[in-house]
Amino acid sequence: MTRSRPDCIFCKIVRGEAPSHRVCEDERTIVFMDIFPVTDGHTLVVTKDHFENVFEADEDTLAAVARTSHRVAAAIRSELAPDGLMVFQLNGRAAGQTVFHYHMHLMPRASGEPLALASRVPGVPERLVEIASRLALALAE
Ligand code: 5GP
Ligand code: ZN
Repeated sequence: MTRSRPDCIFCKIVRGEAPSHRVCEDERTIVFMDIFPVTDGHTLVVTKDHFENVFEADEDTLAAVARTSHRVAAAIRSELAPDGLMVFQLNGRAAGQTVFHYHMHLMPRASGEPLALASRVPGVPERLVEIASRLALALAE
């Protein structure tokens, strides 16, 4: 990576200095489970380089995130069979962004589940480990 911030939590995960339940990675992106999942299987696709938001990120990076999101979405569908899947991304505090390093949310949804974008309840570690490894296996097939 060429752009990295010492105190950014997602940069720390990219550098291996902070833990994460990692699913996969490629040259430009890394995928791991959201530590405060709104729904079961809530996954993040994160750029390896530090871009604060969609305005800072370049087109090739955004295309790489879209490609990875597409692959991970298929893995979520095959492993978790949700009724729906929210794919979204927030820019700026006013839009609800809380981690200022570009990332896409992949949030499986069940029919009738109340709509929420964020949670303060940490995920159950064993479940995060399980889903991360199942998605990793599905992606490796
Ligand atoms: P945003 O609101 O910026 O779009 O989303 C940031 C997401 O990052 C939130 O869903 C939050 O739960 C998640 N998050 C915050 N800190 C960490 C962390 O240290 N590890 C992981 N895996 N997710 C985090
Ligand atoms: Zn960062």
